[in-house]
Amino acid sequence: MSPGSVFLWRNTTSHRTKGQLRPIRPSGSESANVGRRHKKACLALERSVEDIKLHFLGTAAAEGFPGLFCRCQTCSDARKRGGKDIRTRSSVLIDDVLKIDWPPDTYLHVLREQLDLAAVRDLLVTHTHHDHLVPGELIMRKPVFAHGVDHPLNIYGNELVVRACKPLLGDDDERFTHRLLRPFKTADIGSAVVTPLLADHNPDESCFIYHIERNGKTLLHGHDSGWFPDETWQWLRENPIDFAVLECTSGPLPGMHNHLNIEGVTKIQQAFLDQGILKTASAMAVTHFSHNSGMLHDDFVQAFEPLGITTAYDGLVLQI
Ligand SMILES: [Zn+2]
Ligand SMILES: [Zn+2]
Ligand SMILES: [Zn+2]
Repeated sequence: MSPGSVFLWRNTTSHRTKGQLRPIRPSGSESANVGRRHKKACLALERSVEDIKLHFLGTAAAEGFPGLFCRCQTCSDARKRGGKDIRTRSSVLIDDVLKIDWPPDTYLHVLREQLDLAAVRDLLVTHTHHDHLVPGELIMRKPVFAHGVDHPLNIYGNELVVRACKPLLGDDDERFTHRLLRPFKTADIGSAVVTPLLADHNPDESCFIYHIERNGKTLLHGHDSGWFPDETWQWLRENPIDFAVLECTSGPLPGMHNHLNIEGVTKIQQAFLDQGILKTASAMAVTHFSHNSGMLHDDFVQAFEPLGITTAYDGLVLQI
């Protein structure tokens, strides 16, 4: 596929009805292993070596969508509708080996998406808000709790990420390593070449959005971001991308500081094209939605489809 082009890989939620999760095992006598083998065969047939598989595990903001304790109209509509309107806390998985963020819904992601989490080699953490990092859950990768784990999970992030993870998990090179990343300093982490860029999000820490190069493709994982700071724009102008994932936390609400809204996403798309950062307008997806937007999945599709932007949902897999 040409750089920047994208197509829908798999829709795991299309047959879901209210409150239902996709079965962990295929129906009938088929075992989960058969399903996995079939999936691998499909991968071999349909993907070229250069493609990046971008798997959206969760697509909600901090409280989940519907919100954990929320009784607002949007949350009650989402509960009634189910399917793509049920969103868990945000994370993506790239080619099954590179994960971004470790939200509180990770165990649900493993069950729903049939993930082999032990295969993940590198974990990039954007910042320490609880919807992006729950370090206590990572203890379950240690001996006694997990068997057959044959390589360390390399955790990358800012000072607060290292401080939250290293004392808790240890740094033994068998199960975990911890690496501090600095803004705008490129690092070859094995599964990709990554550069953390600064976001306008939590002023108490260096929140990162990530420029990721893998298989000759470049991807911007752009949340939680707000409107990008000047030095991030400058860096992106010198390092164009093939695809961008942005947040649209606030929907139609005003303001582009801390989080983005529809206006912010639209303006960034235009700036990407004007400044030669992105070649194709449609090489973009939005995620990290809040119920406070008052918008359900179809509303986001209606807002973004005319711009060629994909509205992500839990379980969506794109091939870039
Ligand atoms: Zn968040
Ligand atoms: Zn709500
Ligand atoms: Zn945040």
